[in-house]
Amino acid sequence: MILVTGGAGYIGSHLVKALLEKGENVIVFDSLELGHQETINVLKDYGNLKFIKGNLKNLDEIRGVFLVNKINSVVHFAGYSQVAESVVNPQKYYYNNVYGTLNLLNAMLEFGVKKIVFSSTAATYGEPQYSPIDENHPQNPINPYGNTKLMIEKIMDDYDKAYGLKSVRLRYFNASGASSDSRIGEWHEPETHLIPNILKAEKERTFKMFGNDYDTKDGTCIRDYINVEDLAEAHIKALEYLNLGGETNYFNLGTNTGNSVKEVFTICERIKGENIPIEICPRRAGDPAVLIADNTKANKILHWIPEKDLEYSIKTAYEYEKFNLH
Ligand code: UDP
Repeated sequence: MILVTGGAGYIGSHLVKALLEKGENVIVFDSLELGHQETINVLKDYGNLKFIKGNLKNLDEIRGVFLVNKINSVVHFAGYSQVAESVVNPQKYYYNNVYGTLNLLNAMLEFGVKKIVFSSTAATYGEPQYSPIDENHPQNPINPYGNTKLMIEKIMDDYDKAYGLKSVRLRYFNASGASSDSRIGEWHEPETHLIPNILKAEKERTFKMFGNDYDTKDGTCIRDYINVEDLAEAHIKALEYLNLGGETNYFNLGTNTGNSVKEVFTICERIKGENIPIEICPRRAGDPAVLIADNTKANKILHWIPEKDLEYSIKTAYEYEKFNLH
Protein backbone atom coordinates (compact mmCIF):
# COMPACT_ATOMS: atom_id res chain seq x y z
CA MET A 1 0.00 0.00 0.00
CA ILE A 2 1.08 3.55 -0.70
CA LEU A 3 0.44 6.16 1.99
CA VAL A 4 -0.26 9.67 0.68
CA THR A 5 -0.28 12.42 3.29
CA GLY A 6 -2.20 15.50 2.18
CA GLY A 7 -3.97 13.45 -0.47
CA ALA A 8 -7.12 15.56 -0.21
CA GLY A 9 -5.22 18.65 -1.37
CA TYR A 10 -4.54 20.00 -4.84
CA ILE A 11 -1.45 18.14 -6.08
CA GLY A 12 -1.91 15.17 -3.71
CA SER A 13 -5.39 14.41 -5.03
CA HIS A 14 -4.11 14.25 -8.62
CA LEU A 15 -1.46 11.75 -7.59
CA VAL A 16 -4.04 9.67 -5.72
CA LYS A 17 -6.27 9.60 -8.82
CA ALA A 18 -3.35 8.53 -11.03
CA LEU A 19 -2.28 5.79 -8.58
CA LEU A 20 -5.83 4.44 -8.28
CA GLU A 21 -6.17 4.40 -12.08
CA LYS A 22 -3.04 2.25 -12.15
CA GLY A 23 -4.72 -0.19 -9.76
CA GLU A 24 -2.63 0.69 -6.69
CA ASN A 25 -4.03 0.45 -3.17
CA VAL A 26 -3.83 3.88 -1.59
CA ILE A 27 -4.29 5.27 1.92
CA VAL A 28 -4.83 9.00 2.24
CA PHE A 29 -3.98 10.59 5.58
CA ASP A 30 -5.24 14.18 5.70
CA SER A 31 -6.46 16.50 8.47
CA LEU A 32 -9.00 18.10 6.07
CA GLU A 33 -7.94 21.47 7.44
CA LEU A 34 -7.02 22.51 3.88
CA GLY A 35 -8.02 19.43 1.91
CA HIS A 36 -11.66 18.60 1.23
CA GLN A 37 -13.94 15.67 2.04
CA GLU A 38 -15.65 16.26 -1.34
CA THR A 39 -12.31 15.53 -3.05
CA ILE A 40 -12.00 12.25 -1.15
CA ASN A 41 -15.56 11.32 -2.15
CA VAL A 42 -14.72 11.86 -5.83
CA LEU A 43 -11.42 9.96 -5.58
CA LYS A 44 -13.19 6.88 -4.22
CA ASP A 45 -14.75 6.44 -7.68
CA TYR A 46 -11.34 5.64 -9.18
CA GLY A 47 -10.32 2.60 -7.15
CA ASN A 48 -9.37 1.12 -3.81
CA LEU A 49 -8.93 4.14 -1.55
CA LYS A 50 -8.85 4.16 2.21
CA PHE A 51 -9.18 7.54 3.92
CA ILE A 52 -7.94 8.31 7.42
CA LYS A 53 -8.58 11.72 8.91
CA GLY A 54 -5.67 12.67 11.10
CA ASN A 55 -2.96 15.19 11.84
CA LEU A 56 0.78 14.60 11.55
CA LYS A 57 1.34 16.76 14.61
CA ASN A 58 -0.14 13.86 16.58
CA LEU A 59 2.44 11.06 16.56
CA ASP A 60 -0.07 8.47 17.79
CA GLU A 61 -2.42 9.17 14.89
CA ILE A 62 0.23 8.58 12.25
CA ARG A 63 1.74 5.61 14.13
CA GLY A 64 -1.72 4.05 14.16
CA VAL A 65 -1.81 4.13 10.37
CA PHE A 66 1.44 2.16 10.11
CA LEU A 67 0.36 -0.19 12.88
CA VAL A 68 -2.71 -1.52 11.09
CA ASN A 69 -1.71 -1.19 7.40
CA LYS A 70 1.09 -2.74 5.41
CA ILE A 71 2.69 0.34 3.92
CA ASN A 72 5.43 0.01 1.34
CA SER A 73 6.17 3.65 0.56
CA VAL A 74 5.03 7.16 1.41
CA VAL A 75 4.32 10.27 -0.65
CA HIS A 76 4.30 13.29 1.64
CA PHE A 77 2.31 16.36 0.56
CA ALA A 78 0.75 17.43 3.88
CA GLY A 79 1.89 20.91 4.87
CA TYR A 80 1.10 24.59 4.80
CA SER A 81 2.23 26.36 1.63
CA GLN A 82 1.36 30.05 1.72
CA VAL A 83 4.45 32.22 1.60
CA ALA A 84 2.83 35.40 2.95
CA GLU A 85 1.20 33.58 5.84
CA SER A 86 4.51 31.92 6.72
CA VAL A 87 6.12 35.34 7.10
CA VAL A 88 3.54 36.57 9.64
CA ASN A 89 3.10 33.22 11.40
CA PRO A 90 6.36 31.23 11.15
CA GLN A 91 5.49 29.30 14.31
CA LYS A 92 2.56 27.68 12.51
CA TYR A 93 4.83 26.69 9.60
CA TYR A 94 7.75 25.30 11.57
CA TYR A 95 5.49 23.42 13.95
CA ASN A 96 3.26 21.91 11.29
CA ASN A 97 5.64 21.35 8.40
CA VAL A 98 8.84 20.38 10.24
CA TYR A 99 7.50 18.76 13.41
CA GLY A 100 4.73 16.99 11.47
CA THR A 101 7.31 15.56 9.06
CA LEU A 102 9.53 14.41 11.94
CA ASN A 103 6.58 12.45 13.33
CA LEU A 104 5.95 10.90 9.93
CA LEU A 105 9.62 9.94 9.48
CA ASN A 106 9.83 8.53 12.98
CA ALA A 107 6.76 6.37 12.39
CA MET A 108 8.31 5.20 9.10
CA LEU A 109 11.54 4.20 10.85
CA GLU A 110 9.67 2.42 13.64
CA PHE A 111 7.77 0.31 11.12
CA GLY A 112 10.69 -0.21 8.74
CA VAL A 113 9.30 1.84 5.82
CA LYS A 114 12.32 3.29 3.99
CA LYS A 115 10.98 5.04 0.87
CA ILE A 116 9.48 8.52 0.69
CA VAL A 117 8.70 11.00 -2.08
CA PHE A 118 8.44 14.53 -0.73
CA SER A 119 6.78 17.71 -2.04
CA SER A 120 9.50 20.30 -2.05
CA THR A 121 9.48 23.58 -3.89
CA ALA A 122 11.32 26.03 -6.09
CA ALA A 123 11.03 28.35 -3.07
CA THR A 124 13.99 26.48 -1.54
CA TYR A 125 16.22 28.23 -4.12
CA GLY A 126 15.25 31.75 -3.06
CA GLU A 127 16.16 34.68 -5.30
CA PRO A 128 17.41 33.16 -8.61
CA GLN A 129 21.08 33.72 -9.36
CA TYR A 130 20.66 32.41 -12.92
CA SER A 131 17.90 31.07 -15.13
CA PRO A 132 16.71 28.45 -15.85
CA ILE A 133 17.36 27.04 -12.38
CA ASP A 134 18.97 23.60 -12.18
CA GLU A 135 19.40 21.47 -9.07
CA ASN A 136 22.94 22.82 -8.49
CA HIS A 137 21.56 26.29 -7.86
CA PRO A 138 22.27 27.31 -4.22
CA GLN A 139 19.35 26.83 -1.85
CA ASN A 140 18.81 30.08 0.08
CA PRO A 141 15.09 30.41 0.84
CA ILE A 142 13.83 33.92 1.51
CA ASN A 143 10.76 33.07 3.61
CA PRO A 144 9.80 30.67 6.43
CA TYR A 145 7.79 28.45 4.05
CA GLY A 146 10.89 27.81 1.90
CA ASN A 147 12.96 27.33 5.07
CA THR A 148 10.65 24.58 6.32
CA LYS A 149 10.91 22.70 3.02
CA LEU A 150 14.70 23.03 2.94
CA MET A 151 14.99 21.88 6.57
CA ILE A 152 12.96 18.79 5.72
CA GLU A 153 15.23 18.07 2.74
CA LYS A 154 18.25 18.24 5.07
CA ILE A 155 16.56 16.04 7.67
CA MET A 156 15.92 13.50 4.92
CA ASP A 157 19.62 13.53 3.92
CA ASP A 158 20.65 12.88 7.52
CA TYR A 159 18.04 10.13 7.95
CA ASP A 160 19.40 8.44 4.85
CA LYS A 161 22.99 8.54 6.14
CA ALA A 162 22.05 7.30 9.60
CA TYR A 163 19.06 5.02 8.96
CA GLY A 164 19.05 4.26 5.23
CA LEU A 165 15.76 6.10 4.60
CA LYS A 166 15.66 6.84 0.85
CA SER A 167 13.92 10.02 -0.31
CA VAL A 168 13.12 11.71 -3.59
CA ARG A 169 12.45 15.42 -3.18
CA LEU A 170 10.47 16.99 -5.98
CA ARG A 171 10.89 20.74 -6.27
CA TYR A 172 7.76 22.04 -7.92
CA PHE A 173 7.58 25.23 -9.93
CA ASN A 174 4.02 26.55 -10.58
CA ALA A 175 1.46 23.74 -10.45
CA SER A 176 -1.48 24.48 -12.73
CA GLY A 177 -4.61 23.01 -14.29
CA ALA A 178 -7.12 20.39 -13.18
CA SER A 179 -7.80 16.74 -13.96
CA SER A 180 -8.65 15.96 -17.58
CA ASP A 181 -12.19 14.94 -16.51
CA SER A 182 -12.61 18.22 -14.53
CA ARG A 183 -13.61 16.37 -11.36
CA ILE A 184 -10.70 17.48 -9.20
CA GLY A 185 -8.71 20.69 -9.36
CA GLU A 186 -7.31 23.64 -7.49
CA TRP A 187 -9.40 24.52 -4.43
CA HIS A 188 -7.75 26.78 -1.87
CA GLU A 189 -9.52 28.99 0.62
CA PRO A 190 -8.59 31.76 0.32
CA GLU A 191 -7.29 31.38 -3.24
CA THR A 192 -3.94 33.10 -3.80
CA HIS A 193 -2.81 31.53 -7.09
CA LEU A 194 -2.76 33.23 -10.44
CA ILE A 195 -4.84 31.06 -12.77
CA PRO A 196 -7.85 30.41 -10.49
CA ASN A 197 -7.84 34.06 -9.44
CA ILE A 198 -8.02 35.22 -13.07
CA LEU A 199 -10.75 32.69 -13.87
CA LYS A 200 -12.80 33.59 -10.78
CA ALA A 201 -12.63 37.34 -11.50
CA GLU A 202 -15.86 39.25 -12.07
CA LYS A 203 -17.14 42.81 -11.63
CA GLU A 204 -17.20 42.73 -7.82
CA ARG A 205 -13.99 40.70 -7.61
CA THR A 206 -11.53 42.05 -10.13
CA PHE A 207 -8.30 40.25 -10.93
CA LYS A 208 -5.43 41.99 -9.17
CA MET A 209 -2.22 41.98 -11.18
CA PHE A 210 0.67 42.35 -8.74
CA GLY A 211 3.10 44.64 -10.55
CA ASN A 212 3.67 45.54 -14.20
CA ASP A 213 7.04 47.21 -13.77
CA TYR A 214 9.34 44.18 -13.54
CA ASP A 215 12.41 43.92 -15.72
CA THR A 216 10.80 41.39 -18.09
CA LYS A 217 9.57 41.50 -21.71
CA ASP A 218 6.13 42.92 -20.75
CA GLY A 219 6.78 44.12 -17.20
CA THR A 220 5.01 41.24 -15.46
CA CYS A 221 6.50 38.28 -13.57
CA ILE A 222 7.47 35.14 -15.47
CA ARG A 223 6.75 31.70 -14.01
CA ASP A 224 7.08 28.10 -15.18
CA TYR A 225 3.55 26.63 -15.18
CA ILE A 226 3.65 22.86 -14.89
CA ASN A 227 0.49 20.82 -15.40
CA VAL A 228 -0.76 19.07 -12.28
CA GLU A 229 -1.28 15.70 -14.06
CA ASP A 230 2.30 15.90 -15.36
CA LEU A 231 3.36 16.56 -11.77
CA ALA A 232 1.41 13.50 -10.59
CA GLU A 233 3.18 11.38 -13.21
CA ALA A 234 6.57 12.55 -11.88
CA HIS A 235 5.64 11.19 -8.44
CA ILE A 236 4.79 7.83 -9.97
CA LYS A 237 8.17 7.78 -11.70
CA ALA A 238 9.87 8.77 -8.44
CA LEU A 239 8.18 5.84 -6.66
CA GLU A 240 9.30 3.49 -9.45
CA TYR A 241 12.84 4.88 -9.09
CA LEU A 242 12.85 4.15 -5.35
CA ASN A 243 11.29 0.71 -5.84
CA LEU A 244 14.15 -0.13 -8.22
CA GLY A 245 16.65 0.68 -5.46
CA GLY A 246 17.34 4.30 -6.42
CA GLU A 247 19.43 6.43 -4.09
CA THR A 248 18.18 9.58 -2.35
CA ASN A 249 17.79 12.30 -4.96
CA TYR A 250 16.08 15.58 -5.82
CA PHE A 251 14.57 16.97 -9.02
CA ASN A 252 13.11 20.17 -10.41
CA LEU A 253 9.65 19.75 -11.89
CA GLY A 254 8.94 22.38 -14.48
CA THR A 255 8.83 22.83 -18.24
CA ASN A 256 12.03 24.79 -19.09
CA THR A 257 9.83 27.65 -20.30
CA GLY A 258 8.18 30.63 -18.71
CA ASN A 259 5.06 32.68 -19.27
CA SER A 260 4.32 36.18 -18.03
CA VAL A 261 1.30 37.09 -15.92
CA LYS A 262 0.01 39.10 -18.91
CA GLU A 263 0.34 36.06 -21.20
CA VAL A 264 -1.56 33.89 -18.74
CA PHE A 265 -4.24 36.56 -18.46
CA THR A 266 -4.61 36.77 -22.26
CA ILE A 267 -5.04 33.00 -22.61
CA CYS A 268 -7.61 33.00 -19.78
CA GLU A 269 -9.63 35.74 -21.51
CA ARG A 270 -9.58 33.81 -24.79
CA ILE A 271 -10.67 30.55 -23.16
CA LYS A 272 -13.38 32.24 -21.09
CA GLY A 273 -14.49 34.16 -24.19
CA GLU A 274 -14.98 37.43 -22.32
CA ASN A 275 -13.12 40.44 -20.98
CA ILE A 276 -11.93 39.81 -17.45
CA PRO A 277 -11.94 42.82 -15.10
CA ILE A 278 -8.37 43.65 -14.08
CA GLU A 279 -6.73 46.03 -11.64
CA ILE A 280 -3.02 46.81 -11.68
CA CYS A 281 -1.72 46.66 -8.11
CA PRO A 282 1.66 47.16 -6.43
CA ARG A 283 4.17 44.30 -6.51
CA ARG A 284 3.58 41.48 -4.04
CA ALA A 285 6.43 41.20 -1.49
CA GLY A 286 8.95 38.45 -2.18
CA ASP A 287 8.03 37.77 -5.84
CA PRO A 288 11.15 37.25 -8.00
CA ALA A 289 10.82 38.57 -11.59
CA VAL A 290 11.55 35.23 -13.27
CA LEU A 291 11.38 31.60 -12.07
CA ILE A 292 12.00 28.90 -14.66
CA ALA A 293 13.06 25.29 -14.08
CA ASP A 294 15.77 23.39 -15.86
CA ASN A 295 14.20 19.91 -15.86
CA THR A 296 17.06 18.05 -17.57
CA LYS A 297 17.85 15.95 -14.49
CA ALA A 298 14.28 14.66 -14.13
CA ASN A 299 14.24 13.88 -17.89
CA LYS A 300 17.44 11.86 -17.64
CA ILE A 301 17.05 10.01 -14.36
CA LEU A 302 13.30 9.69 -13.87
CA HIS A 303 12.52 9.58 -17.63
CA TRP A 304 9.89 12.22 -16.95
CA ILE A 305 8.88 14.58 -19.72
CA PRO A 306 5.97 16.99 -19.19
CA GLU A 307 3.36 16.63 -21.93
CA LYS A 308 0.65 19.21 -21.28
CA ASP A 309 1.06 22.88 -22.10
CA LEU A 310 -0.20 26.02 -20.40
CA GLU A 311 -3.18 26.35 -22.75
CA TYR A 312 -4.34 22.84 -21.75
CA SER A 313 -3.84 23.59 -18.06
CA ILE A 314 -5.94 26.74 -18.29
CA LYS A 315 -8.67 24.92 -20.26
CA THR A 316 -8.96 22.20 -17.60
CA ALA A 317 -8.82 24.78 -14.80
CA TYR A 318 -11.68 26.64 -16.49
CA GLU A 319 -13.77 23.49 -16.88
CA TYR A 320 -13.15 22.70 -13.21
CA GLU A 321 -14.21 26.22 -12.13
CA LYS A 322 -17.38 25.98 -14.25
CA PHE A 323 -18.54 22.65 -12.85
CA ASN A 324 -17.37 22.99 -9.26
CA LEU A 325 -18.75 26.20 -7.84
CA HIS A 326 -17.14 26.83 -4.47
N1 UDP B 1 -0.27 36.94 -9.24
C1 UDP B 1 -1.05 38.06 -9.55
N2 UDP B 1 -2.32 38.10 -9.03
C2 UDP B 1 -2.86 37.10 -8.25
C3 UDP B 1 -2.06 35.96 -7.97
C4 UDP B 1 -0.76 35.92 -8.49
O1 UDP B 1 -0.60 38.98 -10.23
O2 UDP B 1 -4.03 37.22 -7.83
C5 UDP B 1 1.10 36.86 -9.79
C6 UDP B 1 2.18 36.76 -8.72
O3 UDP B 1 2.59 38.05 -8.33
C7 UDP B 1 3.26 35.97 -9.43
C8 UDP B 1 2.49 35.05 -10.39
O4 UDP B 1 1.19 35.65 -10.52
O5 UDP B 1 4.05 36.83 -10.20
C9 UDP B 1 2.32 33.63 -9.88
O6 UDP B 1 1.83 33.67 -8.55
P1 UDP B 1 1.24 32.42 -7.80
O7 UDP B 1 0.77 32.90 -6.44
O8 UDP B 1 0.22 31.74 -8.65
O9 UDP B 1 2.46 31.42 -7.65
P2 UDP B 1 3.93 31.64 -7.01
O10 UDP B 1 4.83 31.96 -8.17
O11 UDP B 1 3.85 32.73 -5.99
O12 UDP B 1 4.24 30.30 -6.44
